[in-house]
Parts: sequence; structure tokens; C-alpha cells
Amino acid sequence: MTITIIGSGISGLYTAYSLVENNVDAKSITIIGEYLPGDQSTFYTSPWAGGNFSCISPDDDLTMKLDKLTYQNLSRIQKSLGGPTCGLEQRYSVEYWDEEPSQKKLDSLKTYILELEVLKDLPKGAAYGIRYLSWNFNCPLFLENMGKYLKNKGVTIARGKLKHIAEAPGDVVFNCTGLGARFLGGVEDSKVYPTRGQVVVVKAPQIKENRMRWGPDYATYILPRPYSHDHVVLGGFLQVDNWTGDTFGYETEDILKRTIELYPEIGEPEVVRVAAGLRPSRKGGVRIEKERIGKKVVIHNYGASGYGYQAGYGMASEAVKLYLGSKL
Ligand SMILES: Cc1cc2nc3c(=O)[nH]c(=O)nc-3n(C[C@H](O)[C@H](O)[C@H](O)COP(=O)(O)OP(=O)(O)OC[C@H]3O[C@@H](n4cnc5c(N)ncnc54)[C@H](O)[C@@H]3O)c2cc1C
Repeated sequence: MTITIIGSGISGLYTAYSLVENNVDAKSITIIGEYLPGDQSTFYTSPWAGGNFSCISPDDDLTMKLDKLTYQNLSRIQKSLGGPTCGLEQRYSVEYWDEEPSQKKLDSLKTYILELEVLKDLPKGAAYGIRYLSWNFNCPLFLENMGKYLKNKGVTIARGKLKHIAEAPGDVVFNCTGLGARFLGGVEDSKVYPTRGQVVVVKAPQIKENRMRWGPDYATYILPRPYSHDHVVLGGFLQVDNWTGDTFGYETEDILKRTIELYPEIGEPEVVRVAAGLRPSRKGGVRIEKERIGKKVVIHNYGASGYGYQAGYGMASEAVKLYLGSKL
């Protein structure tokens, strides 16, 4: 049995990780991606993520389950990749909402989040706030280390662009193409769309914790990036169906204004870079589904939107369960 994973973003890499930990022979697994860890492109979302575990994800039962599964496994993943220097570290997070989040979201968080406390002191206009122990990724570094870990186990990672899913070699194909699922022949999922975000990366060694504020029409966040020479990611935007990877000066100014207001200790930071990325969103949420295309078993695993790092291990586990089930 040979397995191809199309996509070398966090979804494809977590999928390979999950296959290997389920004792699937690593040498039978090939990851094919147009873009690979270390690359930068508008059509490769994973390097652009902030990225941390936060309450940005929706409160449907599946997403809450995927978040929880991922949070509960990040410590193990960090250890297997050699500890915090892999680009994954625990950090405290403060999150404020302008409107109280749903009770079911809060009830779910209570079942697994470490050191969760409800805050009494809230900034003006905020209705609810929490502080807890979160996880922060240095996304480009984590992708590279996850890639190295998988290669050491025997997984092949190769560059290639497929026009049609039927071109993928192997008996089993995992489709982890993110936004690419909209264009890949045999898939062409019109429910897939981008949610654009711009971020400003600054140098601010004094900022050690995450701080986020969710409003009805804005998302403001400050995320220190582990092992990055004191870089802090400031954001952001959630622009539905905006396909541009360009960055804009007026958005940078808006991000700096909002983040400094929320976390005045940022001061007047040195701006390291400005970047934009397209979250691979999907109407109806993630697609984790098995189908047969010709003789191949295809397992779709895409649509991670703004939570590929924080829910992606859970997505991969569910996708791999579909594969292991299909062998029975
Ligand atoms: C500004 C910003 C901030 C974010 N912050 C966070 C955060 O804090 N926490 C979090 O969890 N998430 C965050 N995200 C979301 C996260 O980045 C995405 O959910 C995640 O990167 C999606 O990964 P993916 O592997 O599904 O897609 P991608 O990373 O886009 O990977 C897709 C892969 O498929 C390949 N591919 C596509 N089509 C083909 C084809 N036809 N042939 C061959 N290869 C193909 C690509 O080359 C690539 O390798 C953020 C995103 C942005 C933009």
C-alpha cells in the first residue's frame, strides 16, 4: 500500500505525522507539494500564520473537538520534535471579547485548557475575558522541523504540482491542498475561499504573552514568536474572499494603532516586516471525507481557515481514522 499526501502545509505534515504515529510504514508515504517548508508564496498559507492556539475558531461540535484533540497533543508533538527549539512553546494568553462567547465554547474550553481563569478587569467595551496557558508556534521554523522529523522517519517529501487528483501516485491519496482544493482537477471545491490577513512583525523582547481582542468586525492580536530573536506578530484582519497577497500601508497603521492600544507595553517597536496571507476557509467548515476516485481511496483534509495549527492535528487524526477504517 503506497500513500501520497498532496500538500506540504501544516495539514499535510500533521497528516504524515499522524500516519507515522499510527504505525503506518513511513517509507510508504510521499508528500508532494508545489510549495514545501522553507518556501514563501501567497498560495502557501502555513508560513504566514501568527500563530498560536486561540479562541478564534468557531463553536460547532466538530471544530471544538479538533481544537481539543490538538491542544491535548501539542506537548507530545513538541517533545517528539526535540523540545521547544522546534518552534513550539507554551505561552500565557489573554483574550477579550466585545460580546460574551457562547456557553458551549466556554464549557468546552473548561474541559481541557490549562490554568484557565476568567478575568474581572476588562478593557473598556469588552464583555468577557480569560487568561490561560496557550501554545505559540514559530510557524516557518515549525514547518521545517516537522519536515525534518518526517524525513528522518523515512517519509519522502517531493516538489510537484498536480493538475488533477488522479495524477497522484499511490493507492491512497490524502488531499491536503488548502486553497488549492478550489483549483485541483477532480476536486474543484467552490466552497473554498480565502480569508485574508495582514500582519506586522515587530521586535519587542518585552512582550512575552499573547493578547487578543475579538470584536464584531475586527480581530486584534499580539503573538510573541518563539525562537525568533524577539519577534512579535501583530494583527490583523479577517477579510473574506480577498485574494490579494499584497500588503497595504494603511492596514499596517491600523494594526499598529489597535495593537498598541490593547498592549501599550509594545511601545514604539522596530518593524521587521509586513506580510499578508490567505487563510484557506471553506463554507460549511473543514472537509474531512473519504471517497473513491477510480481505483484510489481519496481522503480529503482541508479547509482549516484560521486554525490549521491549533486544530490541524485533530483534523489529521480524523482523516487518518478514515484511512485506517478503510483498510478493515
Ligand atoms: C495571517 C494569518 C494568521 C494565522 N494565524 C493562525 C494562528 O494563530 N493559529 C492557527 O492555528 N492558524 C493560523 N492561521 C491559519 C493557518 O495558517 C492555516 O489554517 C494553515 O496554514 C492551512 O494549512 P494547509 O496545509 O491547509 O494549507 P497550505 O499551508 O496553504 O498548504 C497547502 C499545500 O498544498 C499544496 N498544493 C496546493 N495545490 C496543489 C497542487 N495542485 N499540486 C501540488 N501541491 C498543491 C501547496 O503547495 C502547499 O504545500 C493563520 C493564517 C494567516 C494567513
